[in-house]
Amino acid sequence: AATAPATAVGPVGSADPAGCSAALPLPVLGRDVTVPLVTGGEVAYAALDYAASAPALQRVWDDVAAYAPYYGSVHRGAGYLSQLSTDLFENSRRTVAEFLGCRPGDQVVFTRSTTDSLNLLAHALPAGCEVFVFETEHHASLLPWRGARVTYLDAPRTPGRAVETLERALADRDPHGPALVCVTGASNVTGELWPVRELAAAAHAHGARIVLDAAQLAPHHPVDVAELDVDWVAFSGHKLYAPFGAGVLAGRTDWLRDAEPYLAGGGASRTVARRADGGVDVDWHTTAARHEAGSPNVIGAYAVASACEALTAAGFDALVARERELIARVREGLAEVPEVRVLSLFGDDAPRVGVLSFVVEGWNSSHFAAALSAEYGIGVRDGLFCAHPLVRTLLGGSPQEPGECGAPEAGPGEGSLNAIRVSFGAGT
Ligand code: PLP
Repeated sequence: AATAPATAVGPVGSADPAGCSAALPLPVLGRDVTVPLVTGGEVAYAALDYAASAPALQRVWDDVAAYAPYYGSVHRGAGYLSQLSTDLFENSRRTVAEFLGCRPGDQVVFTRSTTDSLNLLAHALPAGCEVFVFETEHHASLLPWRGARVTYLDAPRTPGRAVETLERALADRDPHGPALVCVTGASNVTGELWPVRELAAAAHAHGARIVLDAAQLAPHHPVDVAELDVDWVAFSGHKLYAPFGAGVLAGRTDWLRDAEPYLAGGGASRTVARRADGGVDVDWHTTAARHEAGSPNVIGAYAVASACEALTAAGFDALVARERELIARVREGLAEVPEVRVLSLFGDDAPRVGVLSFVVEGWNSSHFAAALSAEYGIGVRDGLFCAHPLVRTLLGGSPQEPGECGAPEAGPGEGSLNAIRVSFGAGT
């Protein structure tokens, strides 16, 4: 019989990251997957789509497997396994807070994904809140702010112009009302880094708050909430080498504490009682639990924490160096093909994470991507990457044109109306 871990409050994870090879800072699952080719035979699959979802780290998988025999529902009982699960869940919160450099008093809410985290924050906006967002954002950052007065800012062509554009927009607002700026740390299309610290300073100088969409930043780059001085940060576990199903919204408590629970139900409520008039009185939690109703995804949270610990233990340096090397090699190769155009908002020399998009003139990007998979076993992403206005702009069109994610929109020879993306991480 398996023996339960002696303590549920120790550090998550047990694998030794020192065992990783120098070239591959962190081992991931699925590196030995082979796929059939249309030309016959099989080839080792090259998954270059980390920006969509990264393979889980071997260590994360091992940690989850080690926990699996002790499965129990969180916050639901005095039984040993329930206690163990509760400890793992709450420890995971602390691990994530440390990974993100949270300030004292900040809270970590476990969600389903970045999309879910930003929708939670949108749900918690105070009355009359204005929202400022660049049109270049992923739809997860662009769209959740329904019901608020949203100002969409034009695509800036330099990081400095981004700060100026935001400052100008904020200067025109009523400084006494609440406002939120939502900005991505690294573009899921170009991989380019955005000037988060400067944008945060601009937001705060004008009395606004700022949330960082770190879906693409956190897997490639350290994120320090206190140092960046952002009010919230959101990211997804499945892009950070954990399995699907868990995300994080971390940061200030006040707007979340004052908002109605995101979901109403058990776990979010402290006490519920019938009233004499026949109704029901509910005392909602004021902590993260307020927005985590229902049986929480303890395995998902634990997996995210395990990934955070693995990345911290390995350090980002080796990963960043490897991604830079791979991006440089891809750029060199693409530069030899005159029909290829790499997409960039801030220019070729802008610092970027291991994400790069391009078009091949005269080729339909979807056909090109399909050929890479069928003939070479290389998995890339094609389409508009859920950032339609940005990709439209980068392709030389207008951000106003409609488009569908991943739709093949032009035949061979008709030019590219969508793009191809390669993205890297641990294991590539
Ligand atoms: N933000 C950015 C920059 C992204 O790249 C993505 C996903 O590609 C998201 C948000 C949404 O992440 P999720 O689909 O995990 O909610």
